[in-house]
Amino acid sequence: MDLKKSMEAMTRAELSIPGGVNSPVRAHRAVGGSPFFVEKGQGAWLVDLDGNRYVDLILAYGPLILGHRHPVVVSALDEALKKGFSYGVPTTGEIDLAEAVKSAFPSIEKVRLVNSGTEATMSAVRVARGFTGRSKLVKFTGCYHGHADHLLVKAGSGATTFGSPDSAGVPAEFAAHTLNLPYNDPEALDETFDTLGDEIAAVIVEPFVGNMGVVSPTPEFVKALCDVPRAHGALLIFDEVMTGFRVGRGGAQSILNVKPDLTCLGKIIGGGLPVGAYGGRADVMDCVAPLGPVYQAGTLSGNPLSVAAGLATLGVLETEDPYPYLDETCGRLCEGLADLAREEGVPIQVNRIGSMFTVFFNEQPVTDYTSAMASDTKRFGVFFQEMLAQGVSLPPAQFEAAFLSIAHGTVEMGAVLSAAAAAFAKVREA
Ligand SMILES: *Cc1c(COP(=O)(O)O)cnc(C)c1O
Repeated sequence: MDLKKSMEAMTRAELSIPGGVNSPVRAHRAVGGSPFFVEKGQGAWLVDLDGNRYVDLILAYGPLILGHRHPVVVSALDEALKKGFSYGVPTTGEIDLAEAVKSAFPSIEKVRLVNSGTEATMSAVRVARGFTGRSKLVKFTGCYHGHADHLLVKAGSGATTFGSPDSAGVPAEFAAHTLNLPYNDPEALDETFDTLGDEIAAVIVEPFVGNMGVVSPTPEFVKALCDVPRAHGALLIFDEVMTGFRVGRGGAQSILNVKPDLTCLGKIIGGGLPVGAYGGRADVMDCVAPLGPVYQAGTLSGNPLSVAAGLATLGVLETEDPYPYLDETCGRLCEGLADLAREEGVPIQVNRIGSMFTVFFNEQPVTDYTSAMASDTKRFGVFFQEMLAQGVSLPPAQFEAAFLSIAHGTVEMGAVLSAAAAAFAKVREA
């Protein structure tokens, strides 16, 4: 595979952009080699600068559930472009998108649009703190909630010790109010609330985790999430930036049958354009300015192009209900991958929920951060590179979710499986 033009682009990019990329995973540091630069995308496929074609399993890290350039989204954007693309003055599209979100998420009574998932989680946490008058926040190790200071905290050695910053540039004082607990550990949640319950404003969680690779919650953990915070007057925040409109139209909460106090959205609701949203109980959301004392604002929030792409995407999801197709297709793909790995004698765990999945190079089930970290990232790197050489673009790190779209059909699934047969053989030989 000739990557000459992409390599030249990377050399040029590195002179002007840190690491050559605008988001770190794109630099391929976790898997080695240099990324391809995209020329264009269509349906399930990407074309790079050198004319190589790839089946896209990244799909912009989740937003493109309809694939690239779905005709309904393209024509919605065409129409929006004719009118204007930013006003800082209200438009009715914003109401339409708020109503579309509410109709899919019964727990959301009021919702505010922002520009990214990071803004959504940061704002939801601020509202929870404003509403409860408390400072502490519980999150779970391995869950990613964007890059706001107080959310960039992993575990210290003790599960319930006060967090220490995960990123340079985050003062320890900023992270001191973030309590990190192990995912899928209801006892740890119980114990933390027993000692610090009346200081905790909220628990924020990825209800199905995508950001340590795909991991599902146990029923006991889900029950604890529903019961424990509420018993102590704390709010439950579901970060559904990835899972919202992905695992089902009503997100993880519709599948798990949970009504969180606040929900964060992003990704799919912008149809591939920059967006985020946070919403939930009206009494909580009414704390936000101009109604209440919690300040949150945005020059480009509710941007007409993002809103148009998001509305078009949600419209297609509502009328076509592609979730059974996505679930079945992804289920068959994952079974195929597991079979191929078994034939080659390569131990893997395939975790999947709906159309998001992760192939962990791991002999044991992956149920939390610790078990995820036991994966063989070197083997993943070999697998990744061979898949890429065979024309399949996976997320370039072991601890990410891969995605399917409605544009992924029989041809694409066949291409992925035949590439995987070669890639598992490479892993075995490596
Ligand atoms: C992607 C993601 C975010 C961050 O969204 P950005 O738009 O990248 O800021 C937050 N939470 C979860 C669960 C995500 O998957």
